[in-house]
Amino acid sequence: MSTRPHALVTGGSRGIGAAICVALADAGHPILLNYRSNGAAAEEVKAAIEARGGEVRLCKFDVADPETAPAAVQALLDEGLEIGVLVNNAGIAKDESFPQMGWDAWQSVTRTTLDGFYNVTRPLVMPMCRKRWGRIINIASVSGVNGNKGQVNYSAAKAGLIGATKALAIELAKRKITVNAIAPGLVETDMIETAPVEMIVKMIPARRIGKPEEVASLAAWLASDGAAYVTGQCIVMSGGL
Ligand code: NAP
Repeated sequence: MSTRPHALVTGGSRGIGAAICVALADAGHPILLNYRSNGAAAEEVKAAIEARGGEVRLCKFDVADPETAPAAVQALLDEGLEIGVLVNNAGIAKDESFPQMGWDAWQSVTRTTLDGFYNVTRPLVMPMCRKRWGRIINIASVSGVNGNKGQVNYSAAKAGLIGATKALAIELAKRKITVNAIAPGLVETDMIETAPVEMIVKMIPARRIGKPEEVASLAAWLASDGAAYVTGQCIVMSGGL
């Protein structure tokens, strides 16, 4: 049995979240792997972590739902689990030029990122304060730092998440809880299936897209004791883009 606190990773069933689950399990954290709908993908990640000797439990809920998401997190706490690491990774993109952007594309993207952050983070903050230890890691995007064409909704959501990161870091620093964001550039996952990758790669100084494992290794470092003095930061990982 591990002595590290549990790590809750939202959207842990695929892509970057799945890689973060593996990296945090390798660092000794029992994993609470959240996903919304793709149970088969979640089971695959669970099996991969268990094959490496890690502990993992699946937690199905929609982070954007203001009733079921906080209730699901509270139910885990009520079992007596110590959740010391939270990675707010769940996110969706619905790209459209702004004049074409319907209400659904606006609100589903902003709700998943911003309401998701609120719904899942808030129940965990007081228990972390009582323990005087915690790590909150928010997966933002370079689109939230620089803005991006066709992504007014996504850029707004991720910029908001970066603002929330900085503000919450100031509130929690004296309780030994760090709050940081990672802003990846293009990363090889299902999310970029329809992106013009060849064209974008020409603009990336590193001349390649990122790997989920690279984002995961930074997340694992931010969760480690060695990162205790880093808080309120948004670390861009984009191959120099
Ligand atoms: P992905 O491959 O599309 O995976 C998304 C994950 O989020 C899935 O596990 C999905 O679960 C889950 N999810 C989506 N909506 C959810 C909800 N409402 N509640 C709970 N889980 C939900 O995406 P990814 O590329 O790994 O992206 C992960 C994060 O990195 C996102 O926040 C994304 O914005 C950010 N990011 C990605 C890139 C990139 O190039 N890939 C770049 C910068 C930032 P189900 O499968 O069950 O729906």
